[in-house]
Amino acid sequence: MNPNLLQTPIDYLKGVGPSRAELLRKELGIHTYQDLINFFPNRYLDKTNYYKINQLQQNSAEVQIVGKIVNIRTVEQQRGKRMVAEFVDETGKMELVWFRGHKWIRENLKINTPYVIFGKTNWFNGLFSMPHPEMELLEEHEKSLRTAMQPVYPSSEKLVNKGISNRVINNLMQQLFIETKGRFYDTLPKNIHEALKLISRSEALFNVHFPTSQELLSKAQFRLKFEELFYIQLQLLVKNMIHKKRIKGFVFETIGANFEDFYNEHLPFELTGAQKKVIKEIRSDLGSGAQMNRLLQGDVGSGKTIVALMSMLIALDNGFQACLMAPTEILSVQHFQGLIDLCKELNTSIEILTGSTKASKRREIHEKLENGELDILIGTHALLEDKVKFKNLGLAIIDEQHRFGVEQRSKLWQKNSLPPHILVMTATPIPRTLAMSLYGDLDVSVIDELPPGRRPIKTVHRYDSNRLKVFRFIRDEIEKGRQIYIVYPLIQESEKMDYKDLMDGYESIAREFPMPKYQISIVHGQMKPADKNYEMERFVNGDTQIMVATTVIEVGVNVPNASVMIIESAERFGLSQLHQLRGRVGRGAEQSYCILMSGHKLSEDGKTRLQTMVSTNDGFELAEVDLKLRGPGNLMGTQQSGILNLKIADIVKDNQILKSARAYAKQMLTEDPDLQKEEHAMVKYTYAQVAKHKNIWNYIS
Ligand code: ADP
Ligand code: MG
Repeated sequence: MNPNLLQTPIDYLKGVGPSRAELLRKELGIHTYQDLINFFPNRYLDKTNYYKINQLQQNSAEVQIVGKIVNIRTVEQQRGKRMVAEFVDETGKMELVWFRGHKWIRENLKINTPYVIFGKTNWFNGLFSMPHPEMELLEEHEKSLRTAMQPVYPSSEKLVNKGISNRVINNLMQQLFIETKGRFYDTLPKNIHEALKLISRSEALFNVHFPTSQELLSKAQFRLKFEELFYIQLQLLVKNMIHKKRIKGFVFETIGANFEDFYNEHLPFELTGAQKKVIKEIRSDLGSGAQMNRLLQGDVGSGKTIVALMSMLIALDNGFQACLMAPTEILSVQHFQGLIDLCKELNTSIEILTGSTKASKRREIHEKLENGELDILIGTHALLEDKVKFKNLGLAIIDEQHRFGVEQRSKLWQKNSLPPHILVMTATPIPRTLAMSLYGDLDVSVIDELPPGRRPIKTVHRYDSNRLKVFRFIRDEIEKGRQIYIVYPLIQESEKMDYKDLMDGYESIAREFPMPKYQISIVHGQMKPADKNYEMERFVNGDTQIMVATTVIEVGVNVPNASVMIIESAERFGLSQLHQLRGRVGRGAEQSYCILMSGHKLSEDGKTRLQTMVSTNDGFELAEVDLKLRGPGNLMGTQQSGILNLKIADIVKDNQILKSARAYAKQMLTEDPDLQKEEHAMVKYTYAQVAKHKNIWNYIS
């Protein structure tokens, strides 16, 4: 078939008028024949069974019934009208009900003519009814292409209201197969077809829309999922190849005095295997001649800081400067103090620059940066100001990447002849499944091991009604010399309410834990940075035993003596946030606890989240659950990612197919990097088509 036929605008398909075309474009993004053919059902209904009305059960399952409408009437009700049809078969009667689309129904439905209806039934006042049934004339039903497994296409209320039902989509699909004769060019090379015993693309497309058997449907889905994932992986791999070739980076070939000295003489602890592995990966990047663009993922407390330091030491060994950016002042200060401590035996100069750095100090830093006296600069967004000019920035490390936008990061680039190497560190675990489809498998390092001797945090879920017990527990822990966090949700839309919650909470805590015996810090988003720091410091220094806060303390704060994290209205937090918060404790030698407070009313998802938190400490496991609960579109930082708008594959469920697709894509590019070979011509063509439509989001660089 001529591939160009598929580019025909959808308006030209028989059965699609201008208004339908407009709806298809607007609501479903279907512009061409090709878009329609790639509009896949999201489930299938088993229509092997026909029910009789007297067989219906009160469990409201989806059923299919053959019968006739004997009359239609309109019933006035408080809010609007409803249209009710009496529907009978030889065993009994029931009602069909419509709340919308009355005009269309009145004009189109036929009385006393056999229909096949399909839908959910309700049982009310001794009578079954079916709201908004799918309907088809029995005569049509018998001669259509449709089969026992009926596809259900994604839809919207607007489409249904305008009469574009599932049935209509189905008919359009049928028309499309007639016009194209159902012959579609194949997009995968022969060797893959043979190795995976794939059915042809034409057969797959037909069976995904009109399954002729369960077996063929599975084969069709496999084939199409594989194809979709294969082209995404191909694109990612090509992008990475281009990146490696084009963007030159400084070559850090020597591992010199700073690194060696630190490694051999001043390591405060034995590195974990995972830390060693990651440092090796970074070292190899830094020496490769291409600019490093690496994401370092490691759960809270996994020891990313020392990896950052050792990477920076390599930069210094090669005559370059390095910087470390953190999202908040508090974190910058902690990094600064931590690094100063680690480097106390080394001959490195380190400074910190934040919004509250005094003007005179600021000038001094600017100067030392430009003349190269300063080796390492730590700080907040203040590092991105125009006045901050490095003599030769070789490595930029960004902690907790999700707080910085892409454009902000690239500002660091503008200060050099070549871009500095970039290492982004995050404790927000991106599920492996997702990371792989976002980046191929390149340039992601994972610290998947915690330093030895950590005691896993004990997590429990308590209802508000058990608050007194929780208070008693807090008292006992404070008695033992521990410190406590109590965190309240902060949700943008209702900041006022959150503030009130926090203050109410603070008051009741203050009553329960009165001064002078107890001291309480409070930190929230509406405070001035200086006040925040002051309160934070009192807690860090152990002057206060309880820290009442909103989620501003979420990221990175390190108070090893804090052993209890209490999260109020825990059901309102997402999993990754809960996990981040929990990571604030468990940093010392003592047993730590996380207590998730909630009311009794919980949504299913809320319940699942709390249960998951109780059952695991593994950030990656949590991220996988999060992905399943919320879908990839909602994960932090992935919204812009076009590649996640998958048409048929599911990044979580189809992970095996993804891996296989990636392996084949890789193999193909290794053998034929420019896709020049005859047998790859169709791949090259399809690749160009796909690349035109799906632009892979540039995640790091
Ligand atoms: P994060 O990955 O959350 O940034 P940090 O780098 O702050 O973690 O490390 C958390 C704590 O673990 C720090 O107190 C650090 O000194 C300690 N630590 C890091 N690596 C090791 C190790 N290999 N052995 C023992 N303790 C370690
Ligand atoms: Mg950290």
